[in-house]
Amino acid sequence: MNATSFGQNTTAPQHLERHYDLVCRACGHTMADDGLTLRCPGNHTPAFLRTRYHDREPAVSPESEGLYRYRRWLPVVRTLPGAGGTVVYRAEVLGRALGLGELWIAFNGYWPERGADLRTGTFKELEAYAVFGRLPERPPVLVVPSVGNTAAAFASVFSRTEVECLLVVPDSGLHRFATVSDIAPTVRLVSITGGDYDDAIELAERVSALPGFRAVGGAWNVARRDGLATVLLSAVEAMGELPEVYVQAVGSAVGAIAVHEAATRLIASGRYGTATPRLLMCQNEGVAPVHRLWHGGPEAHGPVDKEQRRAATGRVYADELVNQRPPYSLTGGIEEALRTSGGDVLRCPGEAARAATELFARTEGIDIEPAAAVAVTCLGRSVQEGRVSSGARVLLNITGGGRARLAAGMEDGRAAQPALRLDFSALDSPGIVQRIRELFPAADVSA
Ligand SMILES: [Zn+2]
Repeated sequence: MNATSFGQNTTAPQHLERHYDLVCRACGHTMADDGLTLRCPGNHTPAFLRTRYHDREPAVSPESEGLYRYRRWLPVVRTLPGAGGTVVYRAEVLGRALGLGELWIAFNGYWPERGADLRTGTFKELEAYAVFGRLPERPPVLVVPSVGNTAAAFASVFSRTEVECLLVVPDSGLHRFATVSDIAPTVRLVSITGGDYDDAIELAERVSALPGFRAVGGAWNVARRDGLATVLLSAVEAMGELPEVYVQAVGSAVGAIAVHEAATRLIASGRYGTATPRLLMCQNEGVAPVHRLWHGGPEAHGPVDKEQRRAATGRVYADELVNQRPPYSLTGGIEEALRTSGGDVLRCPGEAARAATELFARTEGIDIEPAAAVAVTCLGRSVQEGRVSSGARVLLNITGGGRARLAAGMEDGRAAQPALRLDFSALDSPGIVQRIRELFPAADVSA
């Protein structure tokens, strides 16, 4: 581990001052953060806000745990003890199997032998830790729609806090909670029977409009992006330099955008060259919204019928990669990151990803999530097809792994249960939002 390229910051206050501002990518408007703001108040086309840290150089805070090691470049005013982070190592055996001379793995999940301790098995936990750290002193109820992984991560992290939180997931995502036990009463899970991610997003939007409730805001929340950016900070600390190619499976592509932003920030510090890593984003064959947007072509609009979409989504290998509304064309979004990094979007079939899961278990000795297997597969194919040269310095984000290992250590029957189960056919009925509201009797309607 090469820690010398990062300076050290040894002061460790429990509660930090806000050591950053928010800057609009479109109009440059700069503002202090209230811990919740998602958008620029300016009247212009959609654009992300970005954090601007007072420290222009990267610095580690070795006394802080997990991802908070990089808290000088996180929009957080507090940290949570016991936080996990990304583990980065050079994977010689898998690299050889894929035809690569220098393959680095950023492992996100549970793998005690390697020191990986994200207890819900995915990098979504990095987002949850950062979002928690960003919140103001008395936050509203946070509303989080999710395919499943994000909700499980928020359930696990927020159950260790006093913050109230509403998680909305399709019932197809409830198995992601198999390793989450002991949800605090401040965290409420609502499932949608027969629904999909879009149904969860729509319902969450309606609840977020209530007084005392706020949307966590997907890719718009700077804490989610900068939390995921610690994947690259961990990698650069281990590698001593930026990777040339970065490979990740994407749904909404928040992680890939975050890595691009972090690379830009590292380059601006003057010590990491001039080229951001080429982003290779990976999706399933069949339902690949980001691939469709990037490559266009005959299926550019995909199945528009809701039933068709539901059926197609049910058949894909990694169902966390099917977000139909990824942040694509806005300023600071996916298209910009792909264009400026010289990136590409790839796809692979489920059978190939299944084989990659076995390859990874054999070479590295740990189970990985379906999305991560899609990334491994697309990387291997890219080397074979010459899109990635065998000599390239490659960083592969294993976005989730070790869940089988985690499950093996769990008692049966303790998994979290929904506080409310709704049928998707009943979502439009007028009383639904009120029923959810009643799950939070203490919500502060003046917030
Ligand atoms: Zn603006």
